[in-house]
Amino acid sequence: MRIFNFSAGPAVLPTPVLETARDELLDWHGRGMSIMEMSHRGKDFTGVIETAEADLRTLMGIPSNYKVLFLQGGATQHFAQVPMNLLAGRSADYVVTGSWSKKAFKEAQRIGTARLAASTEADHFTGLPGAGELDFDPRAAYVHLCTNETIHGVEMFDLPVVPDGVPLVADMSSHILSRPVDVSKFGLIYAGAQKNVGPAGLVIVIVREDLLGKALPTTPSVMDYAVMAEHGSMLNTPPTFGVYLAGLVFKHLLAQGGLAAVEQANIAKARLLYDAIEASGGFYRNPVALPCRSRMNVPFTLADGALDRDFLAEAAERRLEGLKGHKSVGGMRASIYNAMSPDGVRALVGLMQDFAARKA
Ligand SMILES: *Cc1c(COP(=O)(O)O)cnc(C)c1O
Repeated sequence: MRIFNFSAGPAVLPTPVLETARDELLDWHGRGMSIMEMSHRGKDFTGVIETAEADLRTLMGIPSNYKVLFLQGGATQHFAQVPMNLLAGRSADYVVTGSWSKKAFKEAQRIGTARLAASTEADHFTGLPGAGELDFDPRAAYVHLCTNETIHGVEMFDLPVVPDGVPLVADMSSHILSRPVDVSKFGLIYAGAQKNVGPAGLVIVIVREDLLGKALPTTPSVMDYAVMAEHGSMLNTPPTFGVYLAGLVFKHLLAQGGLAAVEQANIAKARLLYDAIEASGGFYRNPVALPCRSRMNVPFTLADGALDRDFLAEAAERRLEGLKGHKSVGGMRASIYNAMSPDGVRALVGLMQDFAARKA
């Protein structure tokens, strides 16, 4: 029996997708072998990666002047790869709204010049900078954002207004495919797969074509987005099983009605959980400002931190796992990605209500 897995990542995947992968593991489509065992150059895998790209384009409405890349290295590697590819001897602006954008900013400084356009660290990353707090360089090579801060539970629903012609770059690792986004507003989107898409190891990069071809001369070929785009993500062996599984997830989301339908389900799940926190009379608390509370990652604390262990123990008895908060924030964190069922969220809310009634 499967648990309710609230882990921030690697995270829960849709059961029907895992069942398909299981059924196809020894013998994919009558080929007598698994996807993992076949050449990435053969027509079978070529079909898998092409279908995955086409389905992702449909799901996200990706315009034709954008390349879709299936790469490796985790989002962390792309903290460095983005400036390697896009800085072109200039400076980039970073909006720091949590641990991940802070790491991206630090990594960019190793590659070239990066400027802090705003930071909410003084507020312990519990909100987003107001328009008046954003100090953008009109000559910046790009503006980098993390549109969902996985650790702090801060999601950007409105994009900052940036100077004309400066492309937005977004780390969407923990909320890609959770709702529709207007891809044309971005120069580059990147996301590690293991939060909402598939197995760790795969990274999706969506990049506007005119931004390609400006990589630092020392950029290794496998890290050059233009070279990877030229080779259909197959300069070398791509993470074939990850691409296959992501492709199954894309089909699953399309069958659910696409991202508009997925968003409605996510809004309903998030509301259940935030309502339970708000209705607890302070027993549970989420520190994030209302307009930017993440629909994917919901950190919350118990009024008495000494009860954390009991709470986690009772959660485990009910097969609710992965709820311990990130060490930098403490308390709890419930990650309620696409594949978390409403039943899972209801089970968590049930525990929270029971527990508070007994311990308050
Ligand atoms: C998990 C995460 C990362 C890091 O991903 P790795 O695959 O471990 O490199 C980066 N950014 C965000 C927003 C994340 O949630």
